[in-house]
Amino acid sequence: MTSTLALSAAHPGAPFTTVTIERRDLRPDDVLIDVKYAGICHSDIHQVNEDWGPAIFPMVPGHEITGLVVAVGDAVTTFTVGDRVGVGCYVDSCGSCESCVRGEEQMCLNTPVATYNGREYDGTPTYGGYSRSIVVKEHFVVSIPDSMDLAAAAPLLCAGMTVYSPLARFGAADKNIAIIGMGGLGHVAVKIAHAMGATVTVLSQSLSKQDDGIAFGADQYYATNDPETFKKLALSFDFVLNTVSADLPLDDYLGTLKIDGAFINVGFPAEPYRFHAASIVMHQRSIVGSNVGGLAATQQMLDFCAWHNIAAEIELIGVDEITEAYEKVAASTVRYRAVIDIANTLVA
Ligand code: NAP
Ligand code: ZN
Repeated sequence: MTSTLALSAAHPGAPFTTVTIERRDLRPDDVLIDVKYAGICHSDIHQVNEDWGPAIFPMVPGHEITGLVVAVGDAVTTFTVGDRVGVGCYVDSCGSCESCVRGEEQMCLNTPVATYNGREYDGTPTYGGYSRSIVVKEHFVVSIPDSMDLAAAAPLLCAGMTVYSPLARFGAADKNIAIIGMGGLGHVAVKIAHAMGATVTVLSQSLSKQDDGIAFGADQYYATNDPETFKKLALSFDFVLNTVSADLPLDDYLGTLKIDGAFINVGFPAEPYRFHAASIVMHQRSIVGSNVGGLAATQQMLDFCAWHNIAAEIELIGVDEITEAYEKVAASTVRYRAVIDIANTLVA
């Protein structure tokens, strides 16, 4: 075992303190990563606050990780020391179930191992990227293309993949689509959907981020605090991608879908959604979910983003700014993803 510094919350909602945690000795298929950057995903906040039910504490969040390889196990073939790499939401899966065989490790039927707030198959709790180093099985490590800045690439490991996956699956090219919420996930969704060839509308609470949205590639931008918006946009979209972290009046948004349109949901609020059956029945609409993406798809997403020169817009922060950053995420005032400068600011 090797000791490493980490930022840990002792109990739900607790402030982060610097602690020492242990990382396992390298197994033959393990990669030891010197963590440089960790994005703050809204899911970190949901989990620290136990929005999704009982969680494992102490908790070291972080599933948007980039860094450099510093050592590899004897059987590792894909990576060598010095490689620029990333780690997302999962660090292990059974490898043999139907989902794993299909490359959808995040839906492993034997419960995938989450990067943090999870347990290894031997029961050991997992600790995420708010730490100086992490040991990850080779299969769950991806390459960061050379052209990408490591800090701006970090949010792609969760936010980027979570929006790329449904945009690719539902075929954004040449479709008229809307992105609901322009936060960490939403702003990357605008860029990726635009690059895929969609006509993109942003549905944001207000027009305060309109100029940015247009610069990221949106064709139209509407404020949902204006009731006229939903009248104007009735029956407009082939699909909408909901990235909002809170409950929404779903009927209003379902009404913006064309016949056969889909409300694709990646937002993960604490409370259940409610909607009226008429909102889906009358125009044969569907509501579907999407859960990040598998490892091969994550590498494809990174290569797609590198090709199209897409990265997250970030606010680089030090470890002493995390509490403030969490407050800003909750208030939707981060532009557009806070990323912790782990290597330079997480020190004893
Ligand atoms: P974020 O950066 O906080 O962005 C969420 C955006 O939602 C905000 O910027 C805001 O956009 C909008 N919003 C927030 N509160 C709202 C409210 N009360 N009413 C209407 N709009 C509101 O969060 P994120 O990191 O992008 O994550 C978004 C959600 O996706 C979270 O619930 C997260 O847990 C979930 N998630 C799911 C997956 C998955 O695999 N399915 C993966 C990652 C994250 P505007 O200011 O533009 O309105
Ligand atoms: Zn996330």
